[in-house]
Amino acid sequence: MAKVQNRSTKNDPTLEAIPLACADEAAAVEFMEKQRWGAHPACPRCGSLNVYQMRDSRTGERQADYRWRCREKHPSQQFTVRTGTVFEDSRAELRHWCFAFWRAATSKKGVSALEIHRQTGLSYKSSLFMLHRIRFAMADSVVGPLGGEVEVDETYVGGKPRYKGVSKRGRGTKKQCVLAMVERGGRVKTRPIANVTGKTLKDAIREDVHASARIITDENSAYTGIGAEFAGGHQTVCHSAREYVRGDVHSNTIEGFFSIVKRGINGIYHAVSKEHLHRYMAEFEFRYNNRHLEDGERTTAAIQAAEGKRLTYRTPASAVE
Ligand SMILES: [Zn+2]
Repeated sequence: MAKVQNRSTKNDPTLEAIPLACADEAAAVEFMEKQRWGAHPACPRCGSLNVYQMRDSRTGERQADYRWRCREKHPSQQFTVRTGTVFEDSRAELRHWCFAFWRAATSKKGVSALEIHRQTGLSYKSSLFMLHRIRFAMADSVVGPLGGEVEVDETYVGGKPRYKGVSKRGRGTKKQCVLAMVERGGRVKTRPIANVTGKTLKDAIREDVHASARIITDENSAYTGIGAEFAGGHQTVCHSAREYVRGDVHSNTIEGFFSIVKRGINGIYHAVSKEHLHRYMAEFEFRYNNRHLEDGERTTAAIQAAEGKRLTYRTPASAVE
């Protein structure tokens, strides 16, 4: 993992631990255990802290698969740090998961499966699978409705065929519409929109923004009338009249978010299909919503979000890849 460290890791024990965790499996397991449980390892099935590491009776070393055992009486007392996470049924070593989590949580524009493949030696397909699971862990980083001053806008992303004229898959790929809603100084929520009409855009705003908010959009007529439903009203920025800023009626916050998304989609991911767009958007949302954290803290947040997502992830089995 030659490329792991460039920036300062001062006072960030998580970042200090990452190079070793990305290189050595035993260190990776300990790293993940610490991220997930802190000082108190808990049984993922019953929550009990009455657990112990299983060790080889002769050597006293931890078992090769790093199992734990719960002392409470219930079926399946054994577990590992993978149990109940998005990486539970993955065969990839945890050191590669550490690397992927770290890169996905800290790269401004995102990390490609190609980079994971090159840095870890995993197959491209496994790398892509790993990143999709991390994106799944990162999803739903906003809890509850948005409020305050909320800028709303839609943009079109992706759609560029990766291998022009060679791959049939790329042909005819259209740009996809994404609606984003962002609190000034706060959080962002996005929704890929398949059917762009005033009704779908407004329904999304109604669902994700609290009725006390103030809505700011551009002059797109699709948003007309939404102000009546929000206590703060609705102001529009008239871009066509070169009016980008009128007092506090501007869309600078959402433009900033979209520029990060576009640099990532165009620069790192190239083509993003309709089926996967929501996964990539979940990743951009996660990094934006956790932008005030240090890199190490953001990595920890992503790993902790990997817990408890496994079952919901499995429900749509066909949606895994
Ligand atoms: Zn238990």
